[in-house]
Amino acid sequence: MINTQRLSEHIEELSLIGRATDGGINRFSYTDDEKRANELIEQYMKSAGLTVHYDTVGNLIGSQGGTENLPTILLGSHIDTVPSGGRFDGSLGVLVAIEVIHSLKEQGINLRHPVKVIAFKDEEGTRFGFGMIGSRAIAGTLSTIDLQRMDEDGVTIEQAIAMYGFDKKPLSSAKLEDIKLYLEVHIEQGKVLESNGVAVGNVTGIAGPLWLKFQLTGLAEHAGTTPMNQRQDALVGASLIIAEVEKITKQYDSSVATVGKLIVKPNGVNVIPGEVEWTIDIRDIDENQRNQVERDIIQFAETIANERQLQLHVTELQRVDPVHCDINIQNVIKESIQEIDETVISLPSGAGHDAMQFKECFPIGMIFVRSKDGISHNPKEFTSEEDIEKSAKVLFKSLVKLDN
Ligand SMILES: [Zn+2]
Repeated sequence: MINTQRLSEHIEELSLIGRATDGGINRFSYTDDEKRANELIEQYMKSAGLTVHYDTVGNLIGSQGGTENLPTILLGSHIDTVPSGGRFDGSLGVLVAIEVIHSLKEQGINLRHPVKVIAFKDEEGTRFGFGMIGSRAIAGTLSTIDLQRMDEDGVTIEQAIAMYGFDKKPLSSAKLEDIKLYLEVHIEQGKVLESNGVAVGNVTGIAGPLWLKFQLTGLAEHAGTTPMNQRQDALVGASLIIAEVEKITKQYDSSVATVGKLIVKPNGVNVIPGEVEWTIDIRDIDENQRNQVERDIIQFAETIANERQLQLHVTELQRVDPVHCDINIQNVIKESIQEIDETVISLPSGAGHDAMQFKECFPIGMIFVRSKDGISHNPKEFTSEEDIEKSAKVLFKSLVKLDN
């Protein structure tokens, strides 16, 4: 059904582009390495029978017509990386999609729907601190203001696009219309599939991050002369709240919450902390549940602040809505997983993906592949050839079913 050897060779060949001596891959948008990677993908697309072009932001699109006049099925992922990234995050989804199209052609299977395989421009956001540039453009939500975002050298996205010579059409030309659905294979980047002993999984949705900033203010006083019962120690208050974040979140099955950043002021050995600032990242594919976790945490923080005469200030940094995968596509993916004799596991994605951008546009589905030890965004990222083959088979079967 799938030419696994060819697929593995493509993964190996692509992983050499932008690879540093430590094995980490540095492939950022609108750079020579990323251009070379796109040129390699172009060749694979052409061998698979696809017609290749770049849109106005530089998405690489391989197209084939259908036997009937029907809406287009989109497949794809991204080929850019984080600094010192792995060889599978993104790249796998693009290469598996091309392999499935190539295999279908070799087996003389003609799809009723037209198909486009896309290598999306800049999913990771490494260069401009603003990701999913390509998928936003295809969804029609990328604005000319977004294009003014700059990298560390002061180069804007607009200038980077001009340097790489993509066509000068308006942004709106990148928007794709008349799309039936979008389907993506991606490594899990977590340990759920591994701990369940399965190679592939059906994704139920993509959890949207809610980022909050907490500031707790007390009194910075002398650590030696202030008795314990007269203190307004902001760090003790913060510790109690942070410990409760874990307890609260554990009460909800699919929620996760993380305090990843903590600033203590004045941060001296002999000074009582007068001010503490920290962030909380809360995610869930169930928006109501995420909001409930948020409410519980803030309510607890207010109680602690009152008890300890501390001032609490909470700011919202970003609130991204969760996205649900289409039920029909999920059922097709689950059926396909059963057909290759694998146990069916459904799981949400905690990480963001290009598919999120299509929320308002067309139905989406995602197939996850097992990541060894859950590691990703790291040169140690690993997915076995057997697992990759299974993911390609599931995509193959799902595509054929969804085409009918
Ligand atoms: Zn990715």
